[in-house]
Amino acid sequence: MSQSAKRVVLVSRPVGEPKPTDFRIEEYATPAPGPGEVLLRTIWLSLDPYMRGRMSDGPSYAQPVPIGGVMEGGTVSEVIASNNPGFAKGDLVLSRAGWQTHAISDGKGLGKIDPKIARISTAVGVLGMPGFTAYAGLLEIGKPQEGETGVVAAATGPVGSAVGQIANLRGARSVGVAGGPDKVRALTEEFGFAAALDHRSPDFRDQLAEATPDGIDVYFENVGGAVWQAVLPLLNNFARVPVSGLVAQYNAAGPGDGTDRLPATMRAILSKSLTVRGFINYDLAADHYAAFLREVGAGIADGRIRYREDFVDGLEQASEAFIGMLEGRNFGKLIVRVDGGSKP
Ligand code: NDP
Repeated sequence: MSQSAKRVVLVSRPVGEPKPTDFRIEEYATPAPGPGEVLLRTIWLSLDPYMRGRMSDGPSYAQPVPIGGVMEGGTVSEVIASNNPGFAKGDLVLSRAGWQTHAISDGKGLGKIDPKIARISTAVGVLGMPGFTAYAGLLEIGKPQEGETGVVAAATGPVGSAVGQIANLRGARSVGVAGGPDKVRALTEEFGFAAALDHRSPDFRDQLAEATPDGIDVYFENVGGAVWQAVLPLLNNFARVPVSGLVAQYNAAGPGDGTDRLPATMRAILSKSLTVRGFINYDLAADHYAAFLREVGAGIADGRIRYREDFVDGLEQASEAFIGMLEGRNFGKLIVRVDGGSKP
């Protein structure tokens, strides 16, 4: 048995921003599959904002990673040994193997990936959980209509970029919000947003009002914080707000800046007849997953839906890259190339 396997475990629960010392990289013996099991080699590891929540043990829709446990995460993996008749050596699978080079699975929950459909890394990006989140949240709750205005932040990321493009395909006018001039430029030049704004600009609020002269009908909430504060007064009557994530708040150690905006928010919800609905992607799978694969798969194949991936080399870089993502250092879907995985 070789000693070559590596994993990243959680060492401590961060208060505020995670630090590199909250993680530890460990070597362990590559496990051998038992009866009915497969051994997986990780090719791509997905890094996602929800992982910040798994580092904390506060109330959540999901269990935290235990201290000393392997960080959770979706992977594109290769079956390198199989005692399971459903899988052959060489199969490529979508797995929840976590932040490690190798994992054992009994085959439950593994999804086979067809490399002919698209680059296999898209199985954790635009054709995977983030793309599905965009599709299902937007169509089930946001319901963009022809001629309406939709706004989304973290707009160059895998969720936001898909939201903007899918809304465009429904005839809406998408306005994207991102951090920094390069990302803002990509929104109009690469992803077809009608307008793009930098949330770090001092006059961001005024820019947003100018970019949405007819108000906002759909705000796909990815970030919360200052962007939400700027959006709220611009929402039209009967606007829809799918609440997908609040990444601006994930590292918050306390209740915020001390200003209680809840009364104003509740007043807006009532007086403008807003629909504000949170969702977790998998709860929408039964109604939307098949259509998502069809429509977004076709959109990628014919170039109507574009995506950006941001690759980082080596499991050793995962924690720094993850910390950076929460500050906006990633540009596109953040994916770690693990174990020298070089498949396109
Ligand atoms: P991204 O790859 O877009 O990464 C997060 C981005 O958030 C950063 O790159 C940064 O972009 C932006 N950001 C960070 N801090 C702030 C801030 N203070 N204000 C504005 N933007 C900020 O992430 P994903 O596309 O993977 O995820 C987007 C959102 O969707 C997250 O909130 C995530 O939790 C949520 N999500 C929800 C799911 C669900 O089932 N409900 C499933 C999957 C994702 P920039 O530099 O442009 O500011």
